[in-house]
Amino acid sequence: MAELARVPLIAGNWKMNLDHLQSIAFVQKLAWSLKDARHDFAAVEVAVFPPFTDLRSVQTLVAADKLPIGYGAQDVSEHASGAFTGEIAASFLAQLDCRYVIIGHSERRTLHGETDEVVAAKSVAASAAGLVPLICVGETAEDLETHGASAVPVSQLAIALEGLQKNADFVVAYEPVWAIGSGQAATPEQAQQVAAALRAVIAEKLGDEAAARTRILYGGSVKAENIAGFMRQPDVDGALVGGASLDVDGFSSIARYQKHVGV
Ligand code: PEP
Repeated sequence: MAELARVPLIAGNWKMNLDHLQSIAFVQKLAWSLKDARHDFAAVEVAVFPPFTDLRSVQTLVAADKLPIGYGAQDVSEHASGAFTGEIAASFLAQLDCRYVIIGHSERRTLHGETDEVVAAKSVAASAAGLVPLICVGETAEDLETHGASAVPVSQLAIALEGLQKNADFVVAYEPVWAIGSGQAATPEQAQQVAAALRAVIAEKLGDEAAARTRILYGGSVKAENIAGFMRQPDVDGALVGGASLDVDGFSSIARYQKHVGV
C-alpha cells in the first residue's frame, strides 16, 4: 500500500466534563502550554471534544485568539432536522466551525443502543455537512476472548464505511472497550495489529488511496507515560484520549510525545 504522510492527531474526548466556562479556561491553558513548549501543530494536530454546550464558547475563543487547536462534538444526529427532541444536526456543528465529530463511541453504543447502521448513517450525515467523522470501533473483553481482537472492530468499520464516498475525509479510532477508562491499555503491538486490519478494510471498501491517507488512532487508557509505544507503530496515527485529556499538563504532554519519546 502506498505510503502517504499522515499528520498524527491527538484528540481529547472530554465526555460529560467541563462546562462552558471551564472549557474556555481549559482551552486557553492548553494553547499556552503547547505554545510555551513550541509545539509544532503542523507536525502533530491537537483537537478537543467538549460537550455540546461548550462548543460556541470554544469557537469564539479559538477564532478570537486564532488558536491552532481543533475541536468537535462527541455525537451528532443522523437526521438533518425535524422532530428529534434532544438531537443536534451536523449542519449546526458545521455552523460552529467544528472540524470533527466523534461517532459510535463505545459509551454511545452500549448506553444508548447505537447500532453499526446508526453509526453509518451518522457518518454519512456528518460527512455531507462537511465535518470529519471520527468513527470509533472496538471489541469488548468478551469479544476479544471469543473472536480475537480484530474481528469485531473490522466488521463494525466495514458497516460504518458503507455510505461514505471514496474521497471522504474521516478518522478511525480503535478503542478496545476493555481498555477504556480501565487503566489497562492494549499493548502497542495489539493496537498495531488491529490498526493494520482496519486499514485493510478501508482499502477494500474505499480503495488504497483512502486507506493510505486515513488516520487511525488508538484509544483506551492512553497517558503521557504510554503514548510513545503507540506512536511508534506504523499504522497508529494518533490517540483518542479520555480521562487523561482532562488534565492540561498531561494532555499537553501526550501531544508533545515527539519531544519526550525520541520518535
Ligand atoms: C475514551 O473514552 O475514548 C477513552 C479512550 O477513555 P480513556 O482514555 O479514559 O480510557
